[in-house]
Amino acid sequence: MTDSKAADCTHALGIPFMYDRINELGVPYDNPNWRARCSKRFYETLLQLGKYLKECGILPLDGNKAVLTGGCYVDKPGQHGKGNACDFDGFLTMDDEVILYKDGIKHEVEGYRIRSMSRKLASRIACAISLHAGVVITEHYNSRHEDHIHFDIGREVKWHGGRSRSQNVVTQAALKLWHDKSVKIDGKIGSQTRNAMMVCLGKPSSDNWKITNSRWKTFLDKVAGNKLKESTG
Ligand SMILES: [Zn+2]
Repeated sequence: MTDSKAADCTHALGIPFMYDRINELGVPYDNPNWRARCSKRFYETLLQLGKYLKECGILPLDGNKAVLTGGCYVDKPGQHGKGNACDFDGFLTMDDEVILYKDGIKHEVEGYRIRSMSRKLASRIACAISLHAGVVITEHYNSRHEDHIHFDIGREVKWHGGRSRSQNVVTQAALKLWHDKSVKIDGKIGSQTRNAMMVCLGKPSSDNWKITNSRWKTFLDKVAGNKLKESTG
């Protein structure tokens, strides 16, 4: 990504990004000189996502001071190198509590209280992001993403018909958390996943019911907005 194409997206979500990965010098969280940068296209994604997170009541949460990140544009191959990706690590609250996606070894810092966010909140965030970025990789995809959510715009935002394992596990994790503990997060969309979503959306039982793009988006919107309990009674 050339500098002329880069946008400073430090404030694109409405709450500033703060770099939270510890470097070789052990310098963590609050490096005031650090700026998040991304492509202009990804900047638009972050703007829309920030608005949506606010609508859903996810941001600001407990008075967030910052969204903790491993960066957007990062000088490496893939979507980060194009400025089209972001790593979401967690939040920093106004009273300096660090709420991580999941507690990780790299985040031991003096002066900060650290905890992991609830899996329900983590899932709401993953669903909210899935409505804005076509690739969302979470703890359920592989061990490299146990402590952060990677998202990028390398694919279109749509239901991929069960062919995207990263998307399938985000969907199954949400169904498991909100609806039925027995839903397996195995990345394979079968009758159990379909039936669970059908019930969540209040549809009458049918053998031919399929997850479509619009049904999937409705489901994600319900999870992100914490509205699922109301609809299922
Ligand atoms: Zn990433």
